[in-house]
Amino acid sequence: MVHEKQRNFSCPFEGCKRTCFREGQLQRHIRQKHEKRGEMQCPECPYRTVWKIGLQRHVDEVHKRVRYGCADCEFVSPRKDQVKNHAKKAHGRDITWADIGPMKA
Ligand SMILES: [Zn+2]
Ligand SMILES: [Zn+2]
Ligand SMILES: [Zn+2]
Repeated sequence: MVHEKQRNFSCPFEGCKRTCFREGQLQRHIRQKHEKRGEMQCPECPYRTVWKIGLQRHVDEVHKRVRYGCADCEFVSPRKDQVKNHAKKAHGRDITWADIGPMKA
């Protein structure tokens, strides 16, 4: 039986919703998921993150200088979510992630 009240050790790492019954369990989770072994290092600068997607975005933004552009105007941004927000606000268009491709420099 699960007692919700016992789930009171929650992972302190941003974006992680893991909760554990016991502190030792949480510490093991942190060791396995968040400490050095799980950390990824940018090959081109000292930037580190435990999030694979975060590293990919960092490399795209900072080193590859990938830019995403709006199909309807001159708006350009290093981030897809900003292009998506822009399209919604400026043109009232709900575009999908697949519609946003990197621009050729
Ligand atoms: Zn965690
Ligand atoms: Zn870097
Ligand atoms: Zn636009």
